[in-house]
Amino acid sequence: MIVVMRVGSPEAEVSRLCEEFKGWGLTPEKIVGKHKVVVGLVGDTADLEEALIREQSPWIETVLRVERPYKRASREFRHGEASEVVVSTPNGPVPVGEHHPVAVVAGPCSVENEEMIVETAQRVKAAGAKFLRGGAYKPRTSPYSFQGHGESALALLDAARQASGLGIITEVMDTADVAKIAEVADVLQVGARNMQNFALLKKVGAQDKPVLLKRGMSCTIDEWLMAAEYIMAAGNPNVILCERGIRTFDRKHTRNTLDVSVVPVLRSLTHLPIMLDPSHGTGFWELVPSMAKAAIAAGTDSLMIEVHPNPAKALSDGPQSLTPDRFDTLMKELAVIGNAVGRWESSREPALV
Ligand code: PEP
Ligand code: MN
Repeated sequence: MIVVMRVGSPEAEVSRLCEEFKGWGLTPEKIVGKHKVVVGLVGDTADLEEALIREQSPWIETVLRVERPYKRASREFRHGEASEVVVSTPNGPVPVGEHHPVAVVAGPCSVENEEMIVETAQRVKAAGAKFLRGGAYKPRTSPYSFQGHGESALALLDAARQASGLGIITEVMDTADVAKIAEVADVLQVGARNMQNFALLKKVGAQDKPVLLKRGMSCTIDEWLMAAEYIMAAGNPNVILCERGIRTFDRKHTRNTLDVSVVPVLRSLTHLPIMLDPSHGTGFWELVPSMAKAAIAAGTDSLMIEVHPNPAKALSDGPQSLTPDRFDTLMKELAVIGNAVGRWESSREPALV
């Protein structure tokens, strides 16, 4: 249920109402929008009459029932307004959301050594990226493939963070690692393979760092939003949804099928910020620029691009990684599309040479 308050409702009245709803066994969430205050009611509201709620205060404008299974993640829960996730980074806060410039995340699939991660961080920062990505703990299909350097790679990410000022995004696979990864990471990534690892979702929901939730490769949009709901229900409202390609029938020419149509679909269903990952979404670096441009044209709020100083020698995902030079070129091309749709930070416009 969403309780929409009239413009100018006194704060004390909104608080009084929230206390009343708590007394009914519900969890009220006050959301202060640009124009109005709304109170989202979470809990068992199936038998609750809208009229009974309306009677509780003359300041209530309307009461709406959210029919979707996800509540906090639903667009209605914020009365149609987009939310933003503001990530603290050494370079200052970086907002990710519908009303902000496209934020670009770039870096290698895996953190391999200090030199490569620091060099990549500096190169992608110079090209305009806001975040460095890099896996310390890697979810690999084969137990014999490189599994990531683990804890020692966290220290290397920290060095790259200090050297570049970029925010760090890295994956957490195990509930036991959440706290130590959160000490270094500015955003915790839950990977496609763990999208429905409910213990992990609850754990990242019970800590403060924003969460990047990748879409499971065979998951529907509703399942994905329900996974986001787990994180939000556990107390963390800062969730970014990342489309990274879904399993379809071609495995030869594309690794996955990047579902660009999720952008307008998610826009209507949820207020949460959206990221698209054309690297995992296609599997081949040659396809990344086209799909990155398509993602911006479609209205994504952010992009994730794998960049490696020497893709041929990468310990994971080399074939889909851009070199830093190719990433530079791509960022200049993206600026054209980003400016055309009014979503590019002006300082990132390509320098005239
Ligand atoms: C990754 O980001 O390196 C990764 C493993 O992604 P996904 O979970 O989308 O496969
Ligand atoms: Mn990867």
